[in-house]
Amino acid sequence: MAETKYIFVTGGVASSLGKGIISSSIGKLLQARGYSVTIQKFDPYINIDPGTLNPYEHGECYVTVDGHEADLDLGHYERFLGIQTTKANNITTGRIYKTVIDKERRGDYLGKTIQIIPHITDEIKRNVKLLGNKYKFDFVITEIGGTVGDIESLPYLESIRQLKWELGKNALCVHLTYVPYLAAAKELKTKPTQHSVKELQSVGIQPDILVLRTEHELNTNLRKKVALFCNVDEESVVQSMDMPTIYEVPLRMQEQKLDETILKKMGLPIGETPTLGAWRDFLNRRHNATEVVRIGLVGKYDLQDAYKSILEALSQAATYNDRKADIHFINSEKLTDDNVEAALKDMDGVIICPGFGQRGIEGKFVAIKYCRTHNVPTFGICLGMQCMAIEFARNVLGYADANSREMDEKTPHNVIDIMEEQKSVTNMGGTMRLGAYECVIDPTSKTYQAYKKEHIQERHRHRYEFNNHFKAEFEKAGMKCVGINPESDLVEIVEIPTLKWFIGTQFHPEYSSTVLNPHPLFLSFIKAAIDK
Ligand code: GLN
Repeated sequence: MAETKYIFVTGGVASSLGKGIISSSIGKLLQARGYSVTIQKFDPYINIDPGTLNPYEHGECYVTVDGHEADLDLGHYERFLGIQTTKANNITTGRIYKTVIDKERRGDYLGKTIQIIPHITDEIKRNVKLLGNKYKFDFVITEIGGTVGDIESLPYLESIRQLKWELGKNALCVHLTYVPYLAAAKELKTKPTQHSVKELQSVGIQPDILVLRTEHELNTNLRKKVALFCNVDEESVVQSMDMPTIYEVPLRMQEQKLDETILKKMGLPIGETPTLGAWRDFLNRRHNATEVVRIGLVGKYDLQDAYKSILEALSQAATYNDRKADIHFINSEKLTDDNVEAALKDMDGVIICPGFGQRGIEGKFVAIKYCRTHNVPTFGICLGMQCMAIEFARNVLGYADANSREMDEKTPHNVIDIMEEQKSVTNMGGTMRLGAYECVIDPTSKTYQAYKKEHIQERHRHRYEFNNHFKAEFEKAGMKCVGINPESDLVEIVEIPTLKWFIGTQFHPEYSSTVLNPHPLFLSFIKAAIDK
């Protein structure tokens, strides 16, 4: 395809309607037709990236292979499309302004007055086109965070208006709204949608396609009404009903020919409808799995979004093991030696979650000790792996004061420590090891049996490392360092081979598990949990 096509996805009426899932589903359908597709997200907040955001504010921080701390929607894009995203796929208002202000300070604007239009909007447009220009994608889908009508969204909408004008048929706007159901009147209401479209029109954007999120089926009359009031044709009114799994959404969109409508509007040939065979197989397996595997998630945030990628990786791995993942949040702040048995005894496997800071850390040690001494399949991720090492040092090596330097600066048994070269950096985020690093796996290990290869690349997001000074002692007592970074010699994976499944990874395998390529460690962990 000669020219890149741009699809903008905006949202109205309310937030959390699932723009990320709709963007991913559109991407999936176009990709299935043989087009190269990428998806990017613009977040209208002032933070440079979500790296410093509290998960309560914005859910999990996702990490790309190139080490960008990103919005969790990028996780959906990767899981649906099986692609890898980069820093260019997630832009915030903060980054846009920073670039413009840096340029201004350098004198690049030659004395001009810097304004939202055209300087901020030009920078937004540059970032939209960057992916298309640089990597020659057939389609770039751009999801605009927030809701139409927010003050923060205005510069983005103005940029879309301009781009639609400049690009003509090569740009298209999909607007996602909500159709509430009034139980008393037994009626679906389209007024909020009409208002939201008016809001878009008032900034000069006519949406091309409307996706209506609804809890009840939309009838033809209702679609006709929306089409009439909003200046779109009937086939461009698509419904998005609540689904038992988000991975159903591409199929529901395909049934309503959303992809065909897009292609038609952009002047592209329709061709044959792709069968989405592997995707359907995955969904069938998911629906047919009735038996559950119970997994305890030991962490300090008891909200879904904080561990989004872990939840998805677990449920994907469960599907491929023909089980339903029944995941229980276990708040590590409340775990003690007295209640740990009650909390964990019914779990087939336990995940020790990643995290930062002291809060809830002692409960993680309690959980690990229980799992280690009761041979429960246990998977420690990042801080979870560090806690596995600390617990082992305390209760097996006998160092009662063992800790990570993150929690205790002064302990002589700093089995998790900061590396010498990081010590001078002071700004938050500056010292983090971020993105994909290589790791070599010991071929005699359990971990190797999962990966079935020696050389892997996995994504990191942490500041502290296993302290190699203690390595020999750990190994002698039974905790092996089975994954090593070949360049830095840093420990990437620990395991206790005498236990059924007790593995900790310094990296985050959950970020690279996708629907069609579930992660081998999660697959093997779930299998061990089932066998228990
Ligand atoms: N807090 C730990 C560190 O900085 C672990 C981080 C994490 O779990 N992502 O090393």
